[in-house]
Amino acid sequence: MSLRDPFKLELARKHRIEKKVCRDCGATNPIGATKCRKCRSKNLRLKRKKGRGR
Ligand SMILES: [Zn+2]
Repeated sequence: MSLRDPFKLELARKHRIEKKVCRDCGATNPIGATKCRKCRSKNLRLKRKKGRGR
């Protein structure tokens, strides 16, 4: 795995950050999801870290 590629790195980081987390069961869903894929709850929140980008 080559994680030195800046493009890939950014892509991976974006992917990691832009997710939705279910407040009910804590499952992570794709950013475009409106419902949780596990419990079908609409109680999703955006998982976003600002600042510290490891
Ligand atoms: Zn859920």
